[in-house]
Amino acid sequence: MKSFDVAGEFGNSGRVFLFHAFPEDAVLALAVKQYAVKVKKHAATLIHIFAHVSLRLVMICATKVRQFAKISLILCHKNENIMIQELQLRVHPRTASSHSELVRHLDKYNDIPADSIQGIRILKRSIDARQRNVVVNLKVRVYINEPMTQDYLVPPIDYKPIDGRRQAIVVGMGPGGLFAALRLIELGVKPIVLERGKEVMERRVDASRIQREGIVDPESNYCFGEGGAGAYSDGKLYTRSKKRGSVDRVLGIFVQHGAREDILIDAHPHIGSDKLPGVIKAMRETILRCGGEVHFQTRVTRLIVENGKVTGVETAGGENFSGPVILATGHSARDVYQMLYDSDITVEAKGIAVGVRLEHPQRIIDQIQYHSVLGRGEYLPAAEYNFVTQVDHRGVYSFCMCPGGFVVPAVSEPDGLVVNGMSPSNRGSHWANSGMVVELHPEDLPDRYKKYGVLSMMCFQRDMEQRAYAEAGNSLIAGAQRMKDFVDGKSSRNIPPSSYLPGVQPSRLDQWMPPFVANRLRKGFQVFGKNARGFLTNDAAVIGVETRTSSPLRIPRDLELMHHVTFEGLYPCGEGAGYAGGIVSSAIDGERCAEALARAFEC
Ligand SMILES: Cc1cc2nc3c(=O)[nH]c(=O)nc-3n(C[C@H](O)[C@H](O)[C@H](O)COP(=O)(O)OP(=O)(O)OC[C@H]3O[C@@H](n4cnc5c(N)ncnc54)[C@H](O)[C@@H]3O)c2cc1C
Repeated sequence: MKSFDVAGEFGNSGRVFLFHAFPEDAVLALAVKQYAVKVKKHAATLIHIFAHVSLRLVMICATKVRQFAKISLILCHKNENIMIQELQLRVHPRTASSHSELVRHLDKYNDIPADSIQGIRILKRSIDARQRNVVVNLKVRVYINEPMTQDYLVPPIDYKPIDGRRQAIVVGMGPGGLFAALRLIELGVKPIVLERGKEVMERRVDASRIQREGIVDPESNYCFGEGGAGAYSDGKLYTRSKKRGSVDRVLGIFVQHGAREDILIDAHPHIGSDKLPGVIKAMRETILRCGGEVHFQTRVTRLIVENGKVTGVETAGGENFSGPVILATGHSARDVYQMLYDSDITVEAKGIAVGVRLEHPQRIIDQIQYHSVLGRGEYLPAAEYNFVTQVDHRGVYSFCMCPGGFVVPAVSEPDGLVVNGMSPSNRGSHWANSGMVVELHPEDLPDRYKKYGVLSMMCFQRDMEQRAYAEAGNSLIAGAQRMKDFVDGKSSRNIPPSSYLPGVQPSRLDQWMPPFVANRLRKGFQVFGKNARGFLTNDAAVIGVETRTSSPLRIPRDLELMHHVTFEGLYPCGEGAGYAGGIVSSAIDGERCAEALARAFEC
């Protein structure tokens, strides 16, 4: 059945509404009524409904519909030939991929003559691969006989120079620290950013040395340096945060600093590890242009406490900086946790998830997810997956899935081996990888960890990384096992080709990983293999180990004032403090800490 238009007018206001709807949207009359009530000024009754829809259909639909969320609606002036129309489309991937195809589609199925279309703006895009025929959901704005305007999806922020009368220290320049610094500038507070690592472009050299020579600089690596752990990540920007306003704001700031506008449109936005460094550099330039300071290779070693209040920091170079402190040092700064613990600044034990990186040929994932032996074809992106199950009362799930990506050595200590994943903006590699991890609570750890108290999870994490390094013959050539062999408890004679650059070597991960992790992973893989035929295969390999999934500790803070529960002037922030998991949530948390700190200046 064809889609159809409905139009009408509120009172004699001259304000015309226009719906474009699909039969399954089961729409209209109720939605119209609801809208009339919402627009209080014109809450008049509907005068007339015109267009290609019978009143009977409207009445039938009206009884079925509870809300009009799915219906596109615009208000425009009464001239029916000039308008901007917002539509919800479900189209073939080929149609979604080209402007001319979209115009053809609108002409054929939506009765909008091709020659009247001046422009099409995509507002939202998502892929629906639940059925055999994969479709793309689009929300589009069509300019009919009207020139297309270049309005911002999220307006840019006008960062103004600061006078520097009030200043704050931001420790760490990951997403948490960067967004805190930018927000401080907006609020008129000068940020002094202290970062132990190097600037983002120089970090590339150190990351490449890890991959090619196995040499780890503990101050500059995949976790430490400008941009933090996020800098050489996939730059996946989805989050479970329900605060749409805050998420859009963060995405808007990325776009303002050079990320593609697509991240504001896509249901699963990502920037790509090749593009992120440029974006991060542009953010630093905004901080400097507005009068903030950025100090690289400056590691904070101590918090200065006066009368129960944190008033500044001391660095490894012996320098002191004064001001309230936003501590955004990430989940890998074990020396920071140790320093807090040694200084009697309360930290709390927290659970993490640990496991392996699982790597498939991307072709297999495309075939599974797009239900076709031909894979993704010409118009679809590298497919993603997301698996979760419960095994023996603990979650087993995929984490940080990188379609078309690479497995990387995310080490920050020279005697450990830990892997993670990233992917470039085109997601063009032959591999798909994800963390496959098991949820762990502090009480799950063997008794020998009890003596470490709140630091037990951190010690366990480090032990697992050191074990992986030792099993690899004290190298970064990671131990790996074919996936089905891992499940069947067999050794693998060789390992399929892998994207992991230092290389992989056969290893009995099923035997040397802690049994409470390996056994759950094995059962989890069996469940995933049943749910997705072809997923459990010896063409895939598990690579060990994945341990840096989140912070092994929480630094407790006041819920409202955001400072540490006992030390004013200290704002634990982002993933390292246990309040975020990922780039966007860390960025949002950075902004919140900055706001709380600025408020405290007013008191
Ligand atoms: C390879 C990889 C890929 C990832 N991919 C994604 C992804 O696609 N999407 C996603 O959402 N998340 C991803 N993540 C996770 C994401 O990067 C983190 O959640 C996020 O960066 C946390 O932000 P943060 O600011 O809290 O901490 P971090 O990014 O860890 O930043 C902390 C910063 O503090 C600095 N620092 C530490 N100690 C000190 C000190 N004593 N003095 C001064 N500076 C210090 C560090 O050098 C670092 O720059 C990935 C992580 C890795 C490692």
